[in-house]
Amino acid sequence: MVKKCEGLAVGIDLGTTYSCVAVWQEQHYRVEIIHNDQGNKITPSCVAFTEDQRLIGDAAKNQAAFNPQNTVFDAKRLIGRKFSDQVVQDDIMLWPFKVTAGVNDKPMITVKYKDQEKYMCAEEVSSMVLTKMREIAESYLESPVKNAVVTVPAYFNDSQRKATIDAGAIAGLNVMRVVNEPTAAAVAYGLDKRTDCAEERNIFVFDLGGGTFDVSLLTIKNNNFRVIATAGNTHLGGEDFDNRMVNYFVQEFKKKNKLDISGNPKALRRLRTACERAKRSLSFLVVSTIEIDSLFEGIDFCSPINRAKFEEINMDLFDECMKTVESCLTDANMDKSNVDDVVLVGGSSRIPKVQQLLQDFFNGKELCKNINPDEAVAYGAAVQAALLSEDVKNVPKLVLQDVTPLSLGRKVVGDIMAVVIPRNTSIPVKKTGQFCTGVDNQTRSLIEVYEGERTRASDNNLLGSFYLSGHTAAPRGHPVDVCFAIDENGILTVSATNNASGNSNQITITNYKERLSSEEIKKLIKEAENYHIEDKKFLRKAKAVNALDEYIYKMKISLQKEDVNMKLSSEEIGNIESAITVATNLLSVNHQQVEADVLEDHLKGLESRMEQIIVKTI
Ligand code: ADP
Ligand code: MG
Repeated sequence: MVKKCEGLAVGIDLGTTYSCVAVWQEQHYRVEIIHNDQGNKITPSCVAFTEDQRLIGDAAKNQAAFNPQNTVFDAKRLIGRKFSDQVVQDDIMLWPFKVTAGVNDKPMITVKYKDQEKYMCAEEVSSMVLTKMREIAESYLESPVKNAVVTVPAYFNDSQRKATIDAGAIAGLNVMRVVNEPTAAAVAYGLDKRTDCAEERNIFVFDLGGGTFDVSLLTIKNNNFRVIATAGNTHLGGEDFDNRMVNYFVQEFKKKNKLDISGNPKALRRLRTACERAKRSLSFLVVSTIEIDSLFEGIDFCSPINRAKFEEINMDLFDECMKTVESCLTDANMDKSNVDDVVLVGGSSRIPKVQQLLQDFFNGKELCKNINPDEAVAYGAAVQAALLSEDVKNVPKLVLQDVTPLSLGRKVVGDIMAVVIPRNTSIPVKKTGQFCTGVDNQTRSLIEVYEGERTRASDNNLLGSFYLSGHTAAPRGHPVDVCFAIDENGILTVSATNNASGNSNQITITNYKERLSSEEIKKLIKEAENYHIEDKKFLRKAKAVNALDEYIYKMKISLQKEDVNMKLSSEEIGNIESAITVATNLLSVNHQQVEADVLEDHLKGLESRMEQIIVKTI
């Protein structure tokens, strides 16, 4: 029986580029996608640090061009990875912010905040985005939100899933479940279609986002959603198309002006923003123009790009997508003619060429475009959150069954990967592999747990290792049982039992080196609270500055009005004028140093002094 949680529960699509939060509305029997303070239903997964404040979401993205080194995006590309990972190394080359190797080869992001260097891990940055999503939900629901279902790419491995749960904990959220993004999207699609699903339907979900590409094949029958196979590329999406465009325009700029802008982060950031905008419009128009004033050394840049050129510079990436589609079907052992619906998810699935290639691949089949590609994942997560919430009764009783994306096994003699759970096995699952001791009178066995598809164990990803000791003296070939258990979140626990002599001895891997320890999480939660206090302080100060500024403005306007002026003595006018000067000085000369309460007190004093004068003028 699944353990349910009390209180409100939301669904969060924690995207590489955009995040989205949704909630199941019991009284309306539907999902509500919650808009943020800017009125947008998706929020950039972006965090920025300045001299005096921290910004998250739209506010962070909007200032990115002016503050590129301290504006962090793409944290999801780093989560659960090692610094030396080639994917990380390739990304670093393209990012304007600094990433270095920390303890245990953990990538650490460095920014400047309030004139001090600050080091953060990817979990911390993601936790800030999750905090923002929680706050968006809280302000809409007018109530604290403690529980969430968070989605991850189907291809995320064990450590990436764990790191995502840690990010939730730092954000003060109990992550009830991590759900694969395409499964969540299929729920959004399936809920619409459910009446047609009395017969089994095969659904192919194609999710091309900003940073990752995921495909999944699912079957829906009545209320049962079962993933048959998943495939994907953790490094393919809209940002790669943007990069291609940036490279193209860097060359165009060079041709026109004989100048190379590639070493200038600010110019590149501005160019990237313009490219992304142009790319979006190329989904609807056949030509678009990049226009940036004073891009580099005072030179304005204006250059067109047509859809054909955009497709040409990205064609190999689009082809890559189709190869992944094919391999997912091969894995599932399904002919493409048996796919009933092809569902488009992710912002980049709007690209016409991508749609055309996909339609051609499925022999001209109409693609399903009736769900919002930006919102589908959060929608499905919200349904799952409601299902796991004690307080929600009126919700469609769906059953989601995910699969494990990578094979799991242990290393045996000869560096061979002995698979215990093959990839695409439905989860939760528990399987036991029987292994034999390799040496006579062996007293202990080393259990090394790997994930991956290569035959040679050391070519795969080592998740962790432990010793099982206490063997009784015996010739080699005595059996040891190793049990692999994957829970609903796709998280693995391995235990080993020595049953050769009837003794059993069990060890469980619970924490791996690269994962944050509970002490570290506690420390980061404390830091998150400090950020929250600082953010609140900043907001209070900004409000105080604005209120005083507004009051000065009102006083100035009143003085300019002739009828007001007539009713005042010259002494009173002098008083107002000097009050305006003092207040203006307070704001302009050193307002960085002035505390909010000083400004608030000043305003209060000013209001009470001015009250009598104002009464006279009415
Ligand atoms: P993720 O889930 O990876 O965060 P999203 O699914 O939100 O990403 O997709 C974001 C990506 O979609 C961005 O790279 C954005 O530029 C791209 N995108 C959004 N709208 C369009 C469009 N109309 N045409 C092409 N690309 C688009
Ligand atoms: Mg997405």
